[in-house]
Amino acid sequence: MKTSLFLYNSFSRIKEVFKPLDKKNIRMYVCGPTVYDRAHIGNARPVLVFDILFRLLRYLYGEDNVTYVRNITDIDDKINAKALQSGVNIESITEETIEWFHKDMDFLGALRPNYEPRATAYVSQMIEMITKLTSLSFAYPTEDGHVFFEVERFADYGRLSNKKLGELNEGVRIENEDSKRNPLDFVLWKPSTNEEPGWDSPWGKGRPGWHIECSAMAKDILGEQFDIHGGGIDLIFPHHENEIAQSTCSNDMKKFANFWLHNGFLKIEGEKMSKSLNNFLTVFDLIKRDFSASAIRYNMLSTHYRQPLDWKFERLAEAEKTLIKWNNKKESRNEVDLPKQVLNALLDDINTPLSIYEMHQLYKNEKFADLNKACAFFGFVPKGRKDHLPISPELSKKVNNLIKDRNNARLSKNFLLADKIREDLLGAGIIIKDSGQETTWELSTNLEIKKLKEL
Ligand code: AMP
Ligand code: ZN
Repeated sequence: MKTSLFLYNSFSRIKEVFKPLDKKNIRMYVCGPTVYDRAHIGNARPVLVFDILFRLLRYLYGEDNVTYVRNITDIDDKINAKALQSGVNIESITEETIEWFHKDMDFLGALRPNYEPRATAYVSQMIEMITKLTSLSFAYPTEDGHVFFEVERFADYGRLSNKKLGELNEGVRIENEDSKRNPLDFVLWKPSTNEEPGWDSPWGKGRPGWHIECSAMAKDILGEQFDIHGGGIDLIFPHHENEIAQSTCSNDMKKFANFWLHNGFLKIEGEKMSKSLNNFLTVFDLIKRDFSASAIRYNMLSTHYRQPLDWKFERLAEAEKTLIKWNNKKESRNEVDLPKQVLNALLDDINTPLSIYEMHQLYKNEKFADLNKACAFFGFVPKGRKDHLPISPELSKKVNNLIKDRNNARLSKNFLLADKIREDLLGAGIIIKDSGQETTWELSTNLEIKKLKEL
């Protein structure tokens, strides 16, 4: 490794040198979308910020040595409410939203994480964790079918948000107060009516609370301890505070994530984004308005990830112009080898605005080859070009080769082999489409990077 990576750790509130637990398997978990509606550009901010960190970690430690997990929350009362109000069933809503999310984020050139676990597939692991928490008396069931985590039982509660229990108590919403021992105690499990989705459990038919989802999936895929946990700043309290409590207490008090990273919030033209202000902007809106993915990335990364970001269309137009200027000097963009100045900026807590400034300097000094390398790393590609790969260039090459093998097998009438290749690819989440002479492929909502690598 060239030099050290420094990251601001929200847990210690200082910049620390990043030391992986295992250099051969750097593990990162980022809280993903709740799937009931199209992603807005605020949702795209953590996706793009952690995409850069993912790329940086792969660059520093090797592509195969980084595991990135971003969950999909497909159990949530907002989803249930939407189903009720629209008359569309829950699964259709979540499937469609996941498909939109993938299309939008693929368009933005964000690499897919290695795993995208869905809450619905991990309910048994959640039940197991809750059972353990109750047996260790960190949690308690109530007569009405709830299970709550008892915050007073965890001495470190409030450490991430840097608040004492008393202070946290002031801002808390009071719900189910009757059955809770402390208003801050939070739901691990709640009962479901017949109309609501529910799973059998030791506490009756019900569904998990939101926080336990991430604790259970992170443990199952990354283990009890891992390197980096990320998400938007709004998740620090209560979501991440509660994840720490659940995971630490159910994993023999082992430290959960070593580093906590949080991106700041995004506003539009100086205002909070909201439907009532009529400035609510989805990623799809930007795509429809024909902004290039690169300009959106550029604009998103021109502000440091921890700062609030003010989304201004004027800046987006400037970004588009800059990229056209840079693209005129384009040679090959496949090579990813970062120029020193750009790398140094990234090593300092992912300082993307400084990296972009350094790229302007490279342009000024006519160091076009270096500029191109940096553009490749950032995923800045010429408008309209389809080289935004949701999977790495290596894997994409592999898919293309397998498709060639399949087409050759078909030509030599070895349909058994041809079908097998097609099935294998489908099993890994790659859908092959034949139209005339041409075969194209796209990703399904169930991409499994690990399976694909093994093909
Ligand atoms: P949600 O689907 O609401 O659970 O949010 C998914 C991710 O987007 C979380 O990491 C949030 O913190 C993040 N997020 C939501 N709104 C914004 C915003 N306006 N600016 C930045 N990040 C946001
Ligand atoms: Zn989470």
